[in-house]
Amino acid sequence: MAGEARGKVTVDSEECKGCGLCVESCPPKCLELGPELNTYGAHPARYTGRDCTGCGICFYCCPEPGAITVYRIKAKAKAHAPTLGGKYAPAL
Ligand code: SF4
Ligand code: SF4
Repeated sequence: MAGEARGKVTVDSEECKGCGLCVESCPPKCLELGPELNTYGAHPARYTGRDCTGCGICFYCCPEPGAITVYRIKAKAKAHAPTLGGKYAPAL
């Protein structure tokens, strides 16, 4: 999928059990299982760094609470509204 990403995800590698549900469920296929092993001997998921829409499907598919955090790019602030924080805001 082309175009600028509208979101991003982070995965806590020690919370992930490497089941791959998020990888299979991600519509633009922007998650993968990494080659490294975590403490539990699983290959944790990771974001490829491209094409995330911030849809949250991976979050809802994941059986491990706290493994995935989804961020969406903040909407543009109105003309006189102050902007706080960076480009992304936690979405889920
Ligand atoms: S938020 Fe959506 S697009 Fe982004 S990694 Fe998760 S499933 Fe894929
Ligand atoms: S669905 Fe959750 S536990 Fe399974 S690979 Fe993805 S982040 Fe890890």
